[in-house]
Amino acid sequence: MPGSKYTRQNVLSVKHWVADKLISLTTTRDPEFQFTPGQFARLGLPQSTEGVQPDIWRAYSMVNGPASETLEFYSIVVPEGEFSPRLAQLQPGGHLYVDKTAFGFLTLDRFDAGGTLWLIATGTGLSAYMSMLYDERVWRDYRRIILVHGVRNTDELAYRDQLLEWEQAGEAQSVDSPRARLSYHPIPTQQNLPGTPRARLTALLADGGLERHVGCALDPATSKVMLCGNPDMLTDARKLLSERNFAVGRRGNSGNLALENYW
Ligand SMILES: Cc1cc2nc3c(=O)[nH]c(=O)nc-3n(C[C@H](O)[C@H](O)[C@H](O)COP(=O)(O)OP(=O)(O)OC[C@H]3O[C@@H](n4cnc5c(N)ncnc54)[C@H](O)[C@@H]3O)c2cc1C
Repeated sequence: MPGSKYTRQNVLSVKHWVADKLISLTTTRDPEFQFTPGQFARLGLPQSTEGVQPDIWRAYSMVNGPASETLEFYSIVVPEGEFSPRLAQLQPGGHLYVDKTAFGFLTLDRFDAGGTLWLIATGTGLSAYMSMLYDERVWRDYRRIILVHGVRNTDELAYRDQLLEWEQAGEAQSVDSPRARLSYHPIPTQQNLPGTPRARLTALLADGGLERHVGCALDPATSKVMLCGNPDMLTDARKLLSERNFAVGRRGNSGNLALENYW
């Protein structure tokens, strides 16, 4: 598609984490499509099954790392949504349109390196963090990475095996290793997970329960926090964190808070 703002990619695989609710797709990747982990692509699909031009577009964070030869996306399926039910119908060999430009500012460039990086997500907000973790940079730049994933039910804990693998690799490394250690904290609100508080992330932020559970204080001098996913959670969490001296960077000053609303 010369002169076009987008490319057409082939779907390689589709994984259904929860039937009719959560899927991951991998596609081919245009070698010229470049992005920084945490950024998102605009994905397009035709409205009708006969259509050959994309006319519905939605933002999706890349799950894959920047060096991967394929693209991966993790999606909710909103039954009444225009885009996601169509995305969920794609099969290997189908086509997905990808804007040639990647967008977004939820990247590690927002922070000065060092200290503890808190990656806090609800639901599919995890996608942006997976991309960062598939890249070497985050493991070099921080001493500790704390990933908190809020979901309703335990079956929504996508990418759990990969996250546990990274966590265990950190436990096995020597104490003086310069590589960051990841601690992974899934927090379901509707089901019990042994050893895990059953509460909303914002409630746990407000009463200190998250810091107790994780075993680390949210210190604005040494911690950087990313928030991604549900806009209500982000608004409340941002307010709570701003009362504790966390702020988004402005005009070249790097802050210690960065966020991305998914709707
Ligand atoms: C910067 C950015 C990055 C995004 N990255 C992702 C991603 O990686 N994965 C992903 O699934 N979605 C992501 N989204 C949301 C995505 O663009 C679509 O909105 C979503 O897939 C639903 O599309 P839809 O047309 O079916 O429904 P829409 O008409 O777009 O949304 C309908 C309603 O569904 C709910 N909703 C939308 N998205 C979500 C979601 N992700 N989780 C829970 N409820 C939701 C909201 O209540 C919304 O009003 C992102 C959005 C933005 C702005």
